[in-house]
Amino acid sequence: MSKVHRQTKIIFTIGPATEDEEVIAALIERQVDICRLNMAHANHAWTREIIDRIHKVCRETGRQIAIMMDVKGPEIRTGVIGETLQLERGEPFDFFPDPDRVEELREESVRGVSVNYPGLAKDLKVGDTVLVDSGLIRMRVLDVRPERIRCEVRIPGPMGNRRHINLPGTKVNLPCLTMKDKEDILVGIEKGVDFYALSFVREPGDIDIMRRFVSDNGSKAGIIAKIEDQTAIANLNDIIKASDGLMVARGDLGIEIPYETLPVVQRRAVKSCLSMGKPVIVATHMLESMITQPMPTRAEITDVANAVSEQADCVMLSGETTVGQYPLECVEVLNRIALTMEAQQTQPYNTDLKLKTAKALMLRSAVMLCDEIDGAGLVIFTRSGYGAQTVSALRPRNSPIFAFTDVPRILRQMLIMRGVEPFLMDFEDDPEVTIINAIDHIKRSGWTSAGKSLVILSNALAGKRIIETLQVRTVE
Ligand code: PGA
Ligand code: MN
Repeated sequence: MSKVHRQTKIIFTIGPATEDEEVIAALIERQVDICRLNMAHANHAWTREIIDRIHKVCRETGRQIAIMMDVKGPEIRTGVIGETLQLERGEPFDFFPDPDRVEELREESVRGVSVNYPGLAKDLKVGDTVLVDSGLIRMRVLDVRPERIRCEVRIPGPMGNRRHINLPGTKVNLPCLTMKDKEDILVGIEKGVDFYALSFVREPGDIDIMRRFVSDNGSKAGIIAKIEDQTAIANLNDIIKASDGLMVARGDLGIEIPYETLPVVQRRAVKSCLSMGKPVIVATHMLESMITQPMPTRAEITDVANAVSEQADCVMLSGETTVGQYPLECVEVLNRIALTMEAQQTQPYNTDLKLKTAKALMLRSAVMLCDEIDGAGLVIFTRSGYGAQTVSALRPRNSPIFAFTDVPRILRQMLIMRGVEPFLMDFEDDPEVTIINAIDHIKRSGWTSAGKSLVILSNALAGKRIIETLQVRTVE
């Protein structure tokens, strides 16, 4: 019997509930693929320590996971207000873009707070919506002056310190990378993280700026675009083109767009990524109730199942694994749902992917062939990861993709790709030796067994020439 192969990848966000070595080891044992560090809640000392710890546990367990640093990007927050205010429906409320002038500008009868964005008045107009604290409080803009934005409270709630502000439909003119983001990224580069996720990406230029900053500082990390607002949706395809992958960040997205359109946007984003051959992550609230309960709700089970059958590359855990009481159970739940739904898959390979080269068409032939052979796996050798990404994007129905590379970073970056089981191995001059070594690796890891087939994409020597071949071999 070979091991059961899960195609869908699992990302967990690390936090107090999961940062102990034993818990990280238990998560790796349960086959998580990527650890996400949410820099909105991380300082540099913690970041360095956690990354070292993950690397250590990976060495000890003999299984690699990738690290994704999620930088917070342009984010608007309210300032310090002191004691929590209980807002009332219909009351006026002021936002002051200059924290030093709050006392001078505040009117006796109107409550208010500073915001950390000096340009707020330039972006807002009368009638716009301002949401505070992840949409809990809803306001409408009554009057805009450079030094004071007056709103009316439409849906009241408690207003605490430093609350997150969303401006649905408003294009915010904040730079895409803040000073803090840059400092965070430099720590990530020092420690060798594999992916950066950029929050609130609005246009492809944001990704270009991010990529330039990362590469100017000597890193080849992948850049993941988090789509979280209406501007990002309007520029969706160009953003996908510019990035190495997409995250459907449903937390903020569900606030920034009418919530009933969230499933539509999710489907479109996943489908667009599939047609462009880029990895896609479905994130946030997948098992939210499991922060406090050992069992998911029926709605959550169905939500995860939908993401798997839409063929997203990854599902992601946030609060469930940062502060939740059942982080290991959450991974088990994702494992069970993903395996069950993947077995239900009936549609053939991804026909939406545009294939331009003869090589790419050969990859498609390999996928079709492999899916036709019972219990077969697909073997590919890649130095850049690109071949594996294309094969993954073709979405073999039930064939695991065994991707061999001799570059450790590429091994970890392939962990984001649906269906890919990466291996690190040196390549020999004689392709035949490389193939035999690879089959041996797969067999020893328990992924195949004698009598099973492997579809192999490899170079071969034809006389003195090296040619690309598609081969079927039976495991001995
Ligand atoms: P966050 O992003 O957790 O960094 O806010 C994810 C989301 O908004 O869904
Ligand atoms: Mn977000």
